[in-house]
Amino acid sequence: MPENILIVSNWKMNLNLDNATKLLDNLKKIKLGSKSKVLNIVCPQFLLIPYISNLLSSTDIILGGQDCHFEDFGSFTGDSSIQLLKHYKCEYVILGHSERRSQYGETNLMIKKKCEIARKNKIKPIVCVGESIKLRKKGKHIDFIINQLDECIEKNLENIIVAYEPIWSIGSGLIPSYDEILEVKTKSMNFLKERKGIKNVKILYGGSVNSQNFNDIIQMSGVDGALIGSASINIKEITKIILNVDFN
Ligand code: PEP
Repeated sequence: MPENILIVSNWKMNLNLDNATKLLDNLKKIKLGSKSKVLNIVCPQFLLIPYISNLLSSTDIILGGQDCHFEDFGSFTGDSSIQLLKHYKCEYVILGHSERRSQYGETNLMIKKKCEIARKNKIKPIVCVGESIKLRKKGKHIDFIINQLDECIEKNLENIIVAYEPIWSIGSGLIPSYDEILEVKTKSMNFLKERKGIKNVKILYGGSVNSQNFNDIIQMSGVDGALIGSASINIKEITKIILNVDFN
């Protein structure tokens, strides 16, 4: 088992004030054991962050953002800055989610710059990579993912967190086999350590994770945790995920 298990909740644009409050009230009731390896990280949409940040003070729940701009400030209508994420005590930021890449035209270069500014502000980037079903069927997924890692991540970092999220798995109920996740994990890890000179690499899996498959994914493919969409806003599901792993 890895040293820590990161459970990263990507709430996307899904919760309003009332249901975010209710979800957090429930998350706060979860008592992690003193030896727990779980890092429970929640990533709300920007406008919820100040409110959630306040509710999280003196809890062990960690706050993250879903994105940031790659500049400190400027004429970027509609965007939000890393400095505000920092101000509101975000410790992590999800970067390069496939929804940002496909719906907002984010490129690997933009993601690399976002990583740099996040690191400069001491916020840990979680860099998302993953292939389409077409690439997987053609057997080109590894080349594609390695190229994403190469273009999004600087050389010689102390550490990095990568979320492997096959696009065809997000929200579909389909997941790759454990061996397929293990293959991506191993090859990504080797590339980042050997070719990019990165000392500590953590690999998460994301895509249709739920309370039924979470433990098997962690144990069988040896990933360091998961990035979770729909199950993360379902109180019963996310509670089961956190409690089950805590007692293993
Ligand atoms: C996601 O969008 O990051 C995600 C993993 O979604 P879901 O868990 O709903 O597949």
